[in-house]
Amino acid sequence: MLWNIFYLSGNNPNYEINYSIDPYDQDVKYVFLNTCGFISSARYEMFETIELLLSKHKIIYLLWCGLYYFENLDTSQMDEKEKKIWKNILDNKNIHFLSRSDWNNISIENLIDWYDAEGLKESVLYSWVRAYTNAKYKFEYLKIAEWCNNKCTFCIIPKIRWKQKSLPIKEIVQEVQNMLNAGIEEIILIAQDTNRYGVDLYGKAMLFELLEQLEKIEWDWMYRILYLYPDILTLRQLEKLKKFKKFIPYFDIPLQHIGENILKNMWRFYDQKHIKNLLNFIEKNFETKFVRTNIIVWFPGETEENFQELCEFLEKTTFDNVAIFEYHDEVLADSSKLENKVDESTIRKRFQKLKKILKAKNVSIKNDNNFWYVMWFKWREKDPTIIVRPWLHAPEIDSYDEIKLGDILEIHWDDDWIDIGSKILYRRE
Ligand code: SF4
Repeated sequence: MLWNIFYLSGNNPNYEINYSIDPYDQDVKYVFLNTCGFISSARYEMFETIELLLSKHKIIYLLWCGLYYFENLDTSQMDEKEKKIWKNILDNKNIHFLSRSDWNNISIENLIDWYDAEGLKESVLYSWVRAYTNAKYKFEYLKIAEWCNNKCTFCIIPKIRWKQKSLPIKEIVQEVQNMLNAGIEEIILIAQDTNRYGVDLYGKAMLFELLEQLEKIEWDWMYRILYLYPDILTLRQLEKLKKFKKFIPYFDIPLQHIGENILKNMWRFYDQKHIKNLLNFIEKNFETKFVRTNIIVWFPGETEENFQELCEFLEKTTFDNVAIFEYHDEVLADSSKLENKVDESTIRKRFQKLKKILKAKNVSIKNDNNFWYVMWFKWREKDPTIIVRPWLHAPEIDSYDEIKLGDILEIHWDDDWIDIGSKILYRRE
C-alpha cells in the first residue's frame, strides 16, 4: 500500500493540502480529494471524480469547499438531483469527511491521527515537498493567497470560505526558488483576488512589492499573473509592470460586465472609465501582450441597452481571449435573490448575437518569434505532429497550436531531441 500526499509551503501547517499524485495508480488505496463547491458544474465534476475513484476501489477522504457548500444548505434548498447524489455519498462507507473545525489545523500528522485508518499510520510514505505536477511542461501554479474579502453577489466563495489569507513574501520567494530548482521556467501566480495579495498580513495590497522581490531572483524564468481584479489596479502599477523583466505581458483582468448598473448589482466597484483607461494604457504601452477577460452574461437586471453596450465594447476592444459565463442562480449566492431575471427567450436571442461577435473575434495564435513549449505529441504514422503552447498563452486556458515536425527551426533543450516541455522555434506560414 502506498499513498503520497503533498503539502504546500514546507512545514507551515496552515495551508492547503493539494492532492495525492496519480490517484488512479493501482497501489494507491487512500485518496484525499480537494473538492470545489463554487458552481454546479464544479460540484458535478466532484461527483464524477468520486464515482471514478470508487470504481477503482479507493477509500476517499473529502476536504474543503464541496463539503462546506453542502453543510451550508438545508436540504430543502437543494436541487433534487444533487440531493440524491449527496445522500449516496453520505451513505457510502468508503467516503469520509474532514470536519470543518479541523480545517485550521491541517497537517499531514493530524490527517493521519484524525483518520486513523487501518494500517495507514504504519505504512505512510510522504514527502514535505509540494508536488509539481506540471513541471515537465516547464510551468507550475503558485497560490500566493487563499480566499477572498470581496463580496461579489454571484459568487459563493466568501460564504463557503474565510477571509483572505496570504503567504508571507519571504515564503513565496523561497517557494519560487524551490520551483526553479525543480526545473520550472514559468510560475503562474494565482489567488482569488491576486491584486489584493497581502492585505491580511501587511494591512495593504502588496502584490507589487512581492513582484519587486521576485524580480530580484536571477534565473532564466518568468512569471504570469492571473485574476487581476480591476478595481485597485492603477496606471502606475501597469507602468511598473512595463519595467519588470520577468513579467509575462499577460493581462488577465476579470471585468464581468461593462454596464455600470450591472457592476453595482454584482457588488464590483469600478466603472467604464476606469476599465477603458486600463485597457488603453495596456494597448499603447505593451507592444507584445495578451489580454484576457471574463464576462458574465444575462446577469439579473441586464437590459437590452446593457447588452448592446457590452456587445459594442467586445467588438471594439482588442481582447485575445474572452471567457463568457452564462449566469445561473446558485442558491447560496446573493444574486439569486435579485429581481429582473432575464427570461429564456431573451437569452436565446442575445446568445445568437454574442456568438457572432465572438466568432468574428476569433483571435489567431500569436507568434512573435518567441518560443513555444511542447505540450504533447501526436504520433500519426504519416504525419507526426506536436502540440505546442506559445509562451504568451496561459497553459490550460488559451489555445495551443499543432505543428509538423519538419517545420521546427530550433530546439532549445539540454539535448538535441524534442521532449515534452522543450522550447522550440518553428516556421509559420
Ligand atoms: S473576487 Fe472572485 S472570489 Fe472574490 S468574491 Fe469576487 S468572484 Fe468571488
